Amino acid sequence: MDLKQHIREVPDFPKPGILFYDVSTLLAHPQAWKATVERLKDLVSAYKPDVLAGIESRGFLVAAPLALELGLGFHMVRKKGKLPGKTIPYTYDLEYGTDTIEVQDGAIEPGQRVVILDDLLATGGTLAAAVELVRKVGGEVTGAASIMELTFLKGRERLDIPFSSLIAYD
Ligand code: IMP
Repeated sequence: MDLKQHIREVPDFPKPGILFYDVSTLLAHPQAWKATVERLKDLVSAYKPDVLAGIESRGFLVAAPLALELGLGFHMVRKKGKLPGKTIPYTYDLEYGTDTIEVQDGAIEPGQRVVILDDLLATGGTLAAAVELVRKVGGEVTGAASIMELTFLKGRERLDIPFSSLIAYD
């Protein structure tokens, strides 16, 4: 099954000049979504995770079914202020300013093997920050995966972990 044909390309979203790769149409197609989860399962299980982490918000859509398939739990990596209870933050630089992501305190145990999931890798900044956050709480990031990858932005080069994706745009 050609998964790329199920991704809708939306020009000028969220800003003029940006071409947005929309996973909604893939989610809406049951066979294509099933194939996506099955293929990601193979990639992710090779990293031998104890636990998964999904990056807000479309990373949750990827992490949740994989967690069920693999019989693992998953944790949410969220923007600051969204998670209840005590949280552990990690602040990283953006082109203009900074951003902060968090996990709940105690969610990831020191020494656990963690695989991080998102829908798309662009510059790699978001995923690199999630890797540092997991390390901050003592997790060992054994790999990461996404459905889509904008290879021309060379996001992989910002990562010091194995990374896999299913659909490349170059
Ligand atoms: P990066 O930090 O530049 O790698 O951007 C990746 C983050 O931005 C991910 O969390 C994606 O969900 C989101 N993102 C950037 N571009 C797109 C897109 O075209 N489609 C869907 N998500 C995108």
